[in-house]
Amino acid sequence: MDVYCRGSSWLLQVMQVIMMKRAYILLFFSCVAGLFILAGARALADGLDSIIPLTWVYRSGPPVQTEQTGSVQYAGYSLSHLRLPILMYHHIRDYPDQSDALAVSLSVPVDRFAEQLDFIQEQGYQTVVFADVLDGTVPPKAVMLTFDDGYDDFYTSAYPELEKRGMMAVLYLIGDRLGTGGYLTTSQVKEMVSHGIEVGSHTMSHPDLRDLENERLRREIEDSKSFLQDGLGTTVWSFCYPSGRYNDTVTAEVQEAGYRFAVTTHNGAVDFTQPLELARYRVGSATDIEAWLK
Ligand SMILES: [Zn+2]
Repeated sequence: MDVYCRGSSWLLQVMQVIMMKRAYILLFFSCVAGLFILAGARALADGLDSIIPLTWVYRSGPPVQTEQTGSVQYAGYSLSHLRLPILMYHHIRDYPDQSDALAVSLSVPVDRFAEQLDFIQEQGYQTVVFADVLDGTVPPKAVMLTFDDGYDDFYTSAYPELEKRGMMAVLYLIGDRLGTGGYLTTSQVKEMVSHGIEVGSHTMSHPDLRDLENERLRREIEDSKSFLQDGLGTTVWSFCYPSGRYNDTVTAEVQEAGYRFAVTTHNGAVDFTQPLELARYRVGSATDIEAWLK
């Protein structure tokens, strides 16, 4: 009995030690598991940070354009997190006269353009247009390609490269120049619109909008929108200021005309909280686009 009791108490002590150690082991593993859970939550939050503004923001409700500020609000969310580099192109062509510095700077050679599109694809970027922004279908890695002035080389040189890769673009057309020498024709634009190319207005005659009286300003901004919409059978969501020149009167007219977005020639990252003053990255003959898409 005595032996048994002593034995029992010894056994009890061993059991207590084991239990304590087990508690320590359990505590240790709980801490490790806790650290893993925290790290996982952090990684998930980091991941969501890039997804939330691009999907939830737009699906939360229809955009509302406020009368007072002209800024676009999406039901309780701001657009400040939308990361969408907008590239600005003019000519896509192999320009022969190297002495014309301006023309050379506005022209991206076709093979260089094709390389840039390949790079965009390799980096996992998808091309979007403004209709995608309004629909809330902008993927986390998105880029917008815009082409100013509506030169005919867009149809012959840029569009085939875009088509090959299933890429989209926004084309800024000057109403009066449609179908004139060196510019796109209505039927070319209609064909491309049917393949997803989006059209924006670049006025009727490409003037400096800051100099214009009300009636002329309305023709360039408001009438160009209906002219393109009626002629091409598509909706024009965005406007492009000629030579990037505008003032408060001009932006007020752009808003009044019903445009949802307007692009400038300010160079840099886009800020969608100012939808009528969107910055772009200018792409010229010697531009390296890689830095903007990493
Ligand atoms: Zn222009």
